Amino acid sequence: MKDKLQLMIPGPTPVPESALVALGRHPIGHRSADFQKIVARTTEQLQWLHQTRGSVLVLAGSGTAAMEAGIINVLSRGDRVLCGDNGKFGERWVKVAKAYGLDVQTIRAEWGQPLDPEAFREALEADREKAIKAVIITHSETSTGVINDLETINRHVKAHGEALIIVDAVTSLGATSVPVDDWGLDVVGSGSQKGYMIPPGLGFVAMGERAWAASKRSDLPKFYLDLAKYRKAAEDNSNPFTPAVNLYFALEASMAIMQEEGLQAIFARHDRHRRATRAAMEAIGLPLYAPATCSSPAITAVAPDGLDAEAVRKVVKSRYDILLAGGQDHLKGKVFRIGHLGFVADRDVLVAVAAIEGALVELGRPPVQPGAGVAAAAAVLQG
Ligand SMILES: *Cc1c(COP(=O)(O)O)cnc(C)c1O
Repeated sequence: MKDKLQLMIPGPTPVPESALVALGRHPIGHRSADFQKIVARTTEQLQWLHQTRGSVLVLAGSGTAAMEAGIINVLSRGDRVLCGDNGKFGERWVKVAKAYGLDVQTIRAEWGQPLDPEAFREALEADREKAIKAVIITHSETSTGVINDLETINRHVKAHGEALIIVDAVTSLGATSVPVDDWGLDVVGSGSQKGYMIPPGLGFVAMGERAWAASKRSDLPKFYLDLAKYRKAAEDNSNPFTPAVNLYFALEASMAIMQEEGLQAIFARHDRHRRATRAAMEAIGLPLYAPATCSSPAITAVAPDGLDAEAVRKVVKSRYDILLAGGQDHLKGKVFRIGHLGFVADRDVLVAVAAIEGALVELGRPPVQPGAGVAAAAAVLQG
């Protein structure tokens, strides 16, 4: 049905009406006092979301730009970095680090499994010369629906004493607690089309004091992504280059909704949706790709063995106007992924589960007990 598409992918995520309306306003001058007020307000909102008193800078760019900026502003030519890789995004940060000539040591886990914090501890303890300058880790690995144990890995990084931690929090921020100051996270990157409930186009980088100190020594090439420029402009509630003015309007509106709901309530909602989705898939008899102990609050990957995951997705889209995400790389056709990140209500989860059940009936693989998925999800949602 025209104009009825429901996004249940891990980004872009659904956008509340007040943010959409804000986007449609006439742009204003980005050097005006009115715009400075918006920068001041959104900066406070972003600090609230990141649980930090430090800087959170806004770039016109996607989440990858934010992460690339974080990496190239605190490191120097030939620096050694320890990169966690257990999916598509971990793989990407390895590639970015290599593109800048960094000396990359990779810690891998199989797709669908979490990174082993012990492997980080061992590598960091073995580094007596303190050659490792940063640990780069993806918190919620969107490609597989696995959440990595950032808290424990970060503790090992802190014990090392020299290395910074650079975190891809693109699908964890706004879904689960990422307490930047409490944990002493040095660099945290994210993007607007995920937990922020607005369209793609903004990248966010939180930088702690240790990260700023490292940035003074950093000699990697940069210009547009030189965060010192953004920090300086931010002192004046401004931007070094023309910002995405209308996305700022939308950001102010969506963050107001988030603040009204409250951080703990937002995290509880994402956890409830994670549990409801998983319970539903189990009740339907569809295997889950990630173990319960490390399942992402933002996305659930389902591996419907014996069924083409793309066929399920196709029916859910064409018959029910719900867009699920497919599997990436070797997982294409093997998994589909249900996004429950951002502006997602209990109703959306119930309807997505019902649509998946409907698709299974249509594909000749009906659940043993019709409606079992909806019933299981509803039971979790009702607490
Ligand atoms: C979406 C996403 C990104 C950023 O991707 P962009 O397309 O550059 O916004 C980075 N990491 C994770 C885990 C993601 O889900």
